[in-house]
Amino acid sequence: RARADGQGTARFFEAGMDTALTARHSLEGALRQAAAAEEFALHYQPVFDLRSRRLMGFEALLRWSHPGRGVVSPAEFVPLLEQTGLILPVGAWVLRTACREAARWPAPVGVAVNLSPAQFRRGEVLQAVRSALAESGLAPGRLTLEITEGLLLEHTEAVLTTLEALHALGVEIALDDFGSGYSSLAYLWRFRFDTLKIDRAFVRELRRDGKAAAIIESIIGLGHSLDLRITAEGVETEEQLTALSGVGCDEVQGYLLGRPMPAAEATRLAEAMPPQGTRSAA
Ligand code: C2E
Ligand code: MG
Ligand code: MG
Ligand code: MG
Repeated sequence: RARADGQGTARFFEAGMDTALTARHSLEGALRQAAAAEEFALHYQPVFDLRSRRLMGFEALLRWSHPGRGVVSPAEFVPLLEQTGLILPVGAWVLRTACREAARWPAPVGVAVNLSPAQFRRGEVLQAVRSALAESGLAPGRLTLEITEGLLLEHTEAVLTTLEALHALGVEIALDDFGSGYSSLAYLWRFRFDTLKIDRAFVRELRRDGKAAAIIESIIGLGHSLDLRITAEGVETEEQLTALSGVGCDEVQGYLLGRPMPAAEATRLAEAMPPQGTRSAA
């Protein structure tokens, strides 16, 4: 128990920090071995066109199954990958694997990959994307890169240059978690995104005629006037789906329509639901 003289309090906190640091170090050590031990895998969550119900593609989501810890959430280990720099080799692996697995799906079913700001900071992302495309033979138009607003806050000029170079390869760029962070509309003017993903937090609050619906409707109006495709993430109920349909949302993703699944299952789903037409025709 911490004493009132302050000394005990300090010791109490030090002990707490030690425990946190030890836990962090052991997680970090486990992460370092994870890649070599092939404990990482990608799961794929389907994204559908709302009007036609056509399967447009899948979002690749990183999974880590540690023999002792079980499945660890990316919310827990992605920040650690970023802090340790491990996000560079792991991020390159994600790109390679997602492109290789997506190349087996019937065209034009695509794949979306989440990128971390750290991958931009070291300027390695362009080369990683180029080689993932070259190795897999995946048509660049079938790959979407998802970035978050946080990335645009820092090193903006360098980031914009890299985004332009990625666009020039023919891949699509999505702004993920829109509305969750700083949401400066200025970002929408600085770069021509292809897709805007409305954050789950808005979809969760969605009721017919509610405030969230009004906000989503205006985001969609703005997005459409800038020629963006709008995807809503985290769709869990029929009520949300109906409301999204009413405000003109283009694409939907969420547990109601499909949970993230292993690659083999995603391939079966893609083959069972052959898409017609092209992505841009949607
Ligand atoms: P995100 O990119 O916004 O991905 C969507 C998250 O929402 C995923 O969580 C997905 O499983 C979850 N989700 C989808 N539909 C629903 C729904 O209907 N209800 C609820 N409650 N959740 C839903 P997940 O897989 O835990 O990933 C969390 C975050 O970790 C991702 O958010 C992304 O920011 C990051 N992440 C995942 N994979 C990677 C990766 O390969 N690289 C990087 N840099 N980050 C990744
Ligand atoms: Mg995402
Ligand atoms: Mg998201
Ligand atoms: Mg999110």
